[in-house]
Amino acid sequence: MKVLVATARTQGARAGDYHWCVEGELVRIGEICALDRADPGGGCGCGRAFAGLNSHRATTTARVAEVPLSYPDYVEAIRSSLQQQGYEPCDDCADEEADELAELVADWPVGTIVGRRLAELWVRELPTAEPSG
Ligand SMILES: [Zn+2]
Repeated sequence: MKVLVATARTQGARAGDYHWCVEGELVRIGEICALDRADPGGGCGCGRAFAGLNSHRATTTARVAEVPLSYPDYVEAIRSSLQQQGYEPCDDCADEEADELAELVADWPVGTIVGRRLAELWVRELPTAEPSG
């Protein structure tokens, strides 16, 4: 399925970029603190970040990727990551989140690099066309 993964691509193109995730790991859209809710461009940076499911670190750049995961696998990846980080996700929380994430990337081609501003994602770079043949 098509999901968001961490990438270093386009890092540094914007002031305030940072990348502490592992390249290619699944990411989610993490919670936002009050500081960044008021000003996602500065403050702590969580308002413009994606959160790595494995590293539990953050990056401002994510890539749309096709990964060999089923939807239930994806839900479980999110659920277990939340649990490892000390959250106790509600029964439907991981499912709802997986659904939202899948929806967000549905219209973008694989290879699109996206950034985040609070609840919105925006395209940083479209994939370059692969030479045919
Ligand atoms: Zn924050």
